Amino acid sequence: KDWASDQEVRWCPGCGDYAVLKAVQRTMPDLGLAREKTVFVSGIGCSSRFPYYMETYGFHTIHGRAPAVATGVKLANPELDVWIITGDGDALSIGGNHTMHVLRRNLDCQILLFNNEIYGLTKGQYSPTSRIGTRSPSTPFGSVDRPARPCAFALGSGARFVARGIDVHKNLPDVLKAAHAHKGAAFVEIFQNCVVYNDDVFAPFTAKEFAADRQLWLKHGEKMVFAGGTKGIALDTELLTLKVVAGDDPAVLTHNAQNRAIAHMLVEMPGEGFPVALGVIYDDPAPTFESAVVEQNAAAAAGKTPDLQKLVSKGQTWQVEKEPRAE
Ligand code: SF4
Repeated sequence: KDWASDQEVRWCPGCGDYAVLKAVQRTMPDLGLAREKTVFVSGIGCSSRFPYYMETYGFHTIHGRAPAVATGVKLANPELDVWIITGDGDALSIGGNHTMHVLRRNLDCQILLFNNEIYGLTKGQYSPTSRIGTRSPSTPFGSVDRPARPCAFALGSGARFVARGIDVHKNLPDVLKAAHAHKGAAFVEIFQNCVVYNDDVFAPFTAKEFAADRQLWLKHGEKMVFAGGTKGIALDTELLTLKVVAGDDPAVLTHNAQNRAIAHMLVEMPGEGFPVALGVIYDDPAPTFESAVVEQNAAAAAGKTPDLQKLVSKGQTWQVEKEPRAE
């Protein structure tokens, strides 16, 4: 079945959003999903037009609030496969608060953050991920504030799956599949080129001629990650830094909680001298938010916990036995 809707796609010619849309549409059949059980929820921004172009259920919501709506959708029907589509402004500025909570709650969903380091829809103002010195209509002399790093934000918010992809890269479908395979909130930052307001901002590592040296693709498998080709990463335990190593036997790390620190290092590594970490950077599943809610509701229905409905309708408050506070 074709996953593309009959809606006219309305992005600027050459926008990276087209490539991401194609990658998602191509990936869906491989995941064996049903279109009527799939929902795309977006906020506001260029990328947030995405739900119109999928032959699935969709909800183009309000600025920064896609995580809240997606949470409601998933709680109402945990059988649904929920995808959140957002951008750097939508997810990290007005929606920063909501992005943080959907991650820490670990709602089972895929969050695709299209990062183009600019507000495209509103004509090119600088965004939370714009680099220092970015000239834009709202920063005519160059921006002075330090940019947010989406994957570092996600890890800091408690995300259990963090990955990165590039809009036009052939590996993007594999990254999407890994995100979908993860049970819980799967956060994927996609470097997306805005040809109109921030063209080629990622070219220093996405351009084909630089790919071999400046991209570190991390493979997903039983073992956490290792670099493709002849590169690997190693942890210098004395200096507590990562370094790129040559050879066919790169460091192999197991996906687990200990590697959270390494994942942090990977996403914080500056571009100079260290390649940009791409692919699955961290994957350590944990119980999901909706499963806990469903379990609690089932217990309440079985009379094992106070009747919430009665408490609410009678205006009573839930009497919680508090532990004495340790001095
Ligand atoms: Fe794409 Fe930029 Fe045009 Fe928005 S403004 S549709 S991000 S090229």
